Amino acid sequence: MNRINVTVWDEAEGAIGPYPQGIHNAIADFLRASGQFNEVRIALQPQSEHGLTEDVLNSTDVLVYWAHCFHHQVEDAIVERIARRVLDGMGLILLHSAHASKIFRRLTGTDTDRLRWREVGERERVWRIEPGHPITHGVPEYFDIPNSEMYGEQFGIPAPDELLFISWYEGGEVFRSGCTFKRGLGKIFFFAPGHETFPIYYMPEMQKIITNAVAWAAPAHIPAITGGKMDFIRPEASV
Ligand code: ZN
Repeated sequence: MNRINVTVWDEAEGAIGPYPQGIHNAIADFLRASGQFNEVRIALQPQSEHGLTEDVLNSTDVLVYWAHCFHHQVEDAIVERIARRVLDGMGLILLHSAHASKIFRRLTGTDTDRLRWREVGERERVWRIEPGHPITHGVPEYFDIPNSEMYGEQFGIPAPDELLFISWYEGGEVFRSGCTFKRGLGKIFFFAPGHETFPIYYMPEMQKIITNAVAWAAPAHIPAITGGKMDFIRPEASV
C-alpha cells in the first residue's frame, strides 16, 4: 500500500480567482482523486508556524508549495525547518510564483525571483522535452494554456539537474518552466504555470504533471546515515 503523505501549502486561505475554495483545495482535490497517496493535508501561511510545525513536516513525504504575494512574511525559522527536511529527504514541489520564495532561494543559493513577467492573458505552449521521465509520463508532446501569465528568461536559477519542460509564449519569450533539482537527499520540482486569475490547475495536463511529480519526489527508503567524529580503530584490532 502506498504510504506517501502529502501536505499542500498555500499562502492564503480564502477564495481566489477561479478557485472558490482556494488553490490549495483545488490541488488537494485532484491529488486525492488520483488515489495514489495515503493522505493529502493542507497547511496555510496564516496558521501558527505557517501550519508547518515539526510534527507536520516530520510526517510529510512531499510538500507542495504555492505562494505569490507574501514571501517576505514567511518566517526564516520555518524556511530553515523546511530546508532541513528537504535535505533529509522530503520532496518539494514549487508551483508558479514559488520561484520567488525564500525556500527556493535557500535551497539553490541563487536569485530565483529574477525573470521577465507580463500579465496579459496570452497563450502559453508547454513543451515536454524529456519524454522518458516519470514526471512527464502520460503528458503529450506539448499542450497549450489559453490564458497565462508570461514568465521569461533570464531566470535566475542554477542549471537544473533535469529540464523537463520549456514554455513558449505568444509574446515571444521562452522559459524553463519545469525543472528538477536534488538537494541533500531531497528531490525538488519547480513547475511554472499556475497564475491565480486563470483556471490553469483545472487542466488535466497540469493535474497529471503535478500528480506525477509528487509520486516522483516521495523519498525512497533511506537508511540511517552515520556522521560525526569517528573513533579510530586499527585494522588488525577488528580481525
Ligand atoms: Zn502569477
